[in-house]
Amino acid sequence: MKAAVLRGVHDLRLEALADPRPAADEVLVRVRAAGLCGTDVHMWAGTNQEGTFPFVPGHEWSGEVVEVGAGIRSVAVGDRVVAEVPIPCHICANCKDGMEPNMCPDFELYGFSWDCPGGMAEYTLAREERLFKIPDNVSFEEAALVEPVSVAYHGVWGSGGGAAPHDRVVVFGAGPIGLFAMLSCKASGAPVIVVEPHSYRRSMARELGADVVIDPADGDLVGEVMHHTGGRGATLVLECSGSNGAVAATLDVVGKQGRVVLIGQSAGRRIPVEIGKAIFQRTRITGSSGSPYFFPKTLTFMSRRLVDLMAVVTHRFALDDVLDAFELGHTAVDCGKILVLP
Ligand SMILES: [Zn+2]
Ligand SMILES: [Zn+2]
Repeated sequence: MKAAVLRGVHDLRLEALADPRPAADEVLVRVRAAGLCGTDVHMWAGTNQEGTFPFVPGHEWSGEVVEVGAGIRSVAVGDRVVAEVPIPCHICANCKDGMEPNMCPDFELYGFSWDCPGGMAEYTLAREERLFKIPDNVSFEEAALVEPVSVAYHGVWGSGGGAAPHDRVVVFGAGPIGLFAMLSCKASGAPVIVVEPHSYRRSMARELGADVVIDPADGDLVGEVMHHTGGRGATLVLECSGSNGAVAATLDVVGKQGRVVLIGQSAGRRIPVEIGKAIFQRTRITGSSGSPYFFPKTLTFMSRRLVDLMAVVTHRFALDDVLDAFELGHTAVDCGKILVLP
């Protein structure tokens, strides 16, 4: 089969690999669409060391089951499927304690190592656990969005406690995760203010239905948010950019007894924030990583078709042109979601 193989930093090759065969607890999937994640691009560029070279990247895929291992019970050949990314070990102290899959220190991730390949290939293997059927009214391209949509949807509903028509939401960052977070809130009728420094992404947020779009470089970010929230600040702040300025500003724009959810990647940096504000405002601050147990909920959300999630997709590439996809993704700002279609 044809596959994209990340052999090292700035070394992505299209290779002919042996067709994979499923073990007893695996299915063989013909990949129909694979989303390019910022993490994939960062591993290629050398700015993220999570992957172990060489490997087939791509943890955001959808496809069709073409062969099942001897022990498979819940899916059959012909089923359309997606797979939640972390596969926990089940035997460490955290797993035995009932913690979420991404709390396992020994989890495996699709698309980060040779033994657990990703979806930027004609075929991939997936374990039966954490494998889900795609609803009939959700296309393969839409289903390839389930991972990033679920990260946003979990940030809103899992970590954030939900968004209602009476909420006042601020989303920092209008990359794919920020846009999906905005759309998740809009689907429940909550008004959303989006803060984004890049003009291309600001116009995407506006087109997709953000109520207010703010360029933080314009000056008075806090004043603008207060102006649009009746002087009270946000009830829910979703930080999806990971930028120092945005993380610091979360505590300035959140209202009393509000919630701050940190989704954007900022680990490894110390960011000065006025944390004491959280005491008197009684702010609830929570981190949100991945989307533990949220694929079924997110697939149901997608099948309800309340918002146009596909509008976040701006570019599609054939597998033969996968390097072009990575190079475009590396510019990071003049595109929305990029799909690779094997
Ligand atoms: Zn991702
Ligand atoms: Zn474990």
